[in-house]
Parts: sequence; structure tokens; C-alpha cells
Amino acid sequence: MNPLRALIMAAARNEAVRSLVASAPISRDVVRRFVAGETTQDAVAVTRELGLPVTLDYLGEDTTDEAQAEQVVRAYLELLEALHAAGLASKAEVSVKLSAVGQALDESLALTNASRICAAAGQVGTTVTLDMEDHTTTDSTLRVLTELREQWPWVGAVLQAYLHRTLDDCKSLSGNGSRVRLCKGAYAEPASVAYTDPHEVDLSYVRCVNALMAGDGYPMFATHDPRLIEIIGERARWYDRARDSYEYQMLYGIRQAEQRRLGARVYVPYGEQWYGYLMRRLAERPANVTFFLRSLVSRS
Ligand SMILES: Cc1cc2nc3c(=O)[nH]c(=O)nc-3n(C[C@H](O)[C@H](O)[C@H](O)COP(=O)(O)OP(=O)(O)OC[C@H]3O[C@@H](n4cnc5c(N)ncnc54)[C@H](O)[C@@H]3O)c2cc1C
Repeated sequence: MNPLRALIMAAARNEAVRSLVASAPISRDVVRRFVAGETTQDAVAVTRELGLPVTLDYLGEDTTDEAQAEQVVRAYLELLEALHAAGLASKAEVSVKLSAVGQALDESLALTNASRICAAAGQVGTTVTLDMEDHTTTDSTLRVLTELREQWPWVGAVLQAYLHRTLDDCKSLSGNGSRVRLCKGAYAEPASVAYTDPHEVDLSYVRCVNALMAGDGYPMFATHDPRLIEIIGERARWYDRARDSYEYQMLYGIRQAEQRRLGARVYVPYGEQWYGYLMRRLAERPANVTFFLRSLVSRS
């Protein structure tokens, strides 16, 4: 991990920093730039305002007990119901972290809980994508994906280009009906399993783009990187891919004009547990930290 990023993540774990940031009202522009809000209503309102397809993430990682996992499932069920009631379900899917629904406690609990979310999504006519977390969870997440796809073949998964294994995973998941979201990867991974040089990660991303474009699945390219976006467009022409046979995805608050130009799907996080997510976004781009600190000082 680059030293500045490591420093920001270390500061983020400091209790004084946490309480300063976490006590900032959610309405502050800086938090709102990256997070839709804390409630289901906030998530639905942002979905309506954006006017782009979205994937909604209820923020809640590293669930340590069954009650907490149950609360996350209920939040997703409430969200899907609210999207349906607002007539927005066809353009809004959900992203789920298996760790939030009990993966660390028991894989079968995560499978049961994810199944409940998939059943509700299917009922309102939308889809679910499983986020990918650190490499120790990849095999378990792909096992759960395989089980879920038996009943709901449209369930998607994220693959991370920084992992050495990902080209093979892309090939296995490039068949008809398969939905794969390809990203660079956001966790601090050891060199034994991941490319650590950013250029190597980009090269791996392009190899994975080729594997997914050559297949019959529906690739979802999650990146803000202008060079990769150009290569994806060029590869789509090479593989004669219709524009509706793949999509671009970007995070809420990042490169909004480009999101509109590409008609990208926007990953919209919401929920009370926004602190960790916000810190990861700030660490990705240290220029954001200056913006953030200025805003904390000027509005407190
Ligand atoms: C839809 C979506 C879902 C994702 N799901 C996962 C997941 O399940 N698991 C996982 O490990 N990772 C996930 N990620 C995160 C991803 O792995 C990267 O960490 C993140 O997208 C940054 O990589 P990048 O491809 O945009 O390239 P980068 O090289 O990091 O960025 C390229 C350019 O994008 C802009 N940019 C990037 N990040 C920021 C930022 N925080 N603030 C402002 N500008 C920025 C800058 O202009 C930068 O130069 C997801 C990303 C997206 C878009």
C-alpha cells in the first residue's frame, strides 16, 4: 500500500479522529458527496435524483453476531420494498457484502441470508451482486455465488484484477447469463496473492477485460480510470459487443460528468456505518483529504 494511503488508514483507526469525523452531521457536503445518507428514504431519494441505473450498498461490514446479520438482511428487504413502491426497482439493483450477512460466523448463514435478499430482489424484478472482500474470503464468496446462481442465475459477483487468480476466475465466469463486475481491488493484499505494482494491476485488468468480452456473459466494468475506460471501449468494438451487452460502473460522487457521459451504473452506499467506507475513499485519493478537512473546519 502506498505510504500516504497507509497513513490515512492508520489515522482513520485512531479513536479521536473517528469520533471527530463520526460526530459530523451526515448532512455535511463532504460525507454526502460519497454516501447517499443514513436511511432507506435517503437511498431511494438519491436513486430517483441520479437518473442513472444504480446498485445500492447498505453499509455494514464485519458482522460479528447473528442479530447484526439479521438487521442487515432486514435493511435490504426494506430497501427492495421501498424501491418497488417508488417504481424504481427496474433500474436499481443491490450490492451485498457477505461479511455483513454473517460470512465470518458461518458460510451457510451467509448463504441463507443472501438467499433471502435474492428472493426479495427477484420478486421486485431486480438483481443482486456480491461484493468481493479480502482474498481470504474469495473462495467462500464464489462458493456462495455458485449456490445462489442455481436458483437465481442473474446473481453477479465482483472480481478484483489485482489478484493473480482473477484471470482464471474471469474465464470460469464468462459464460452465458453470468454477471461479473470487474474492479482493480481495494484491500491491502500481500504480494503472494496480488499484483502490488499499479501498472501490473492495470495490465491484469486489461487481460480480464479481454476474457470477459470474449465470453457470453454480461461484464460490468467498475473503474474511474480514463485509460481503462478507453481500452474497454476499444475492446468492445474488437469483440463486436452491442452497447447493451456490458456496462460501466462508478462510485457515487466520483467523476459524475463521466458517469453521465457513459450512462454508467452508480454504486450508491448508504447507512449509519458510513465511516469506514468514507475513509477508504479518502485514502484512495489523498487530494480528497484536503477537501474533507477544509469542510470540517469551515462548517463545524
Ligand atoms: C461499482 C464499483 C464497485 C466496487 N466494488 C468493489 C468490491 O467489491 N471489492 C473491491 O475490492 N473493490 C471494489 N471497488 C473499488 C475498486 O477496487 C477500486 O478501489 C476503486 O474503484 C478505484 O480504482 P479505479 O479503477 O477507479 O482506478 P484508480 O487508478 O484508483 O483511479 C483512477 C482515477 O479515478 C479517480 N478516482 C479514483 N478513486 C477516487 C476517489 N476515491 N476520489 C476521487 N477520485 C477518484 C481519479 O481521477 C483517479 O485518477 C469497486 C469500485 C466500483 C466503481
